[in-house]
Amino acid sequence: MKYFFLLLFVSFLLTNCQTKSQVTDNSTIDFEKNEVVAHRGAWKKQGLPENSIAALQEAIRLGCTGSEFDVWMTADDSLVVNHDPEFFGKMIEETTFADLQNDQLSNGEVIPTVEAYLREGMRQKNTRLVLEIKPSKISKERGLAVAEKVMATVQKLNAAPWMMYISFDYDIVKKILAIAPEAEVAYLNGDIAPAKLKEDGVNGLDYHFSVFRKNPDWIQSAKDNKVALNAWTVNDTTTIDWLLGEGFDYITTNEPELVFERKKSL
Ligand code: MG
Repeated sequence: MKYFFLLLFVSFLLTNCQTKSQVTDNSTIDFEKNEVVAHRGAWKKQGLPENSIAALQEAIRLGCTGSEFDVWMTADDSLVVNHDPEFFGKMIEETTFADLQNDQLSNGEVIPTVEAYLREGMRQKNTRLVLEIKPSKISKERGLAVAEKVMATVQKLNAAPWMMYISFDYDIVKKILAIAPEAEVAYLNGDIAPAKLKEDGVNGLDYHFSVFRKNPDWIQSAKDNKVALNAWTVNDTTTIDWLLGEGFDYITTNEPELVFERKKSL
């Protein structure tokens, strides 16, 4: 009987380890096969607040392959989702989480925590969660601490299979990869060539679309170096059609409905 329980325990351990190793990256989930990443969620057409849980739900409802959102850390080290450094006039990094909850988004939501955002996203398996870590206004070190806290939260929730990460701070990008070498991470600032990204182990670039007008050869170079191609923030038909034609992996947009429409027409 004792051996039976021992055997049961060992097989449980083995199964558990196997499951863990399968969820270190998002290759095990069949996300929607399209290029559409909703920028701050899908908010515009439905008049939802940017970066709200409702905007995430709308991106999922539309079938976007990804939904992007921005992350800051409060004065008392809570991770929250918001684009601007301030929320209703208060600097997020200098305000406590409790204090931020005194204000509400236009749909009645309080500022979402990263944990609530990830939990909502993990209820489905169609849409990736594209998490942008905002560099801290206080210090470089604090930005890196935010990255560490984000990765700890993802690990705690077992959210890794859903995640993609982006940042304007190259050190934050490298920090994420140091913690999770399998993670999909893209650099945002537009000033590093694809070959250099590849050399540094960075597997994605997500540049303003004008960067690709100035450096058209970076498109082929990214493909050659297997660096995922993403562009922000693409809201007009001409640019959408151009990037679809160029075979971008992702198109980050405030107009996900329009990108879907253009895909049908091409
Ligand atoms: Mg963003």
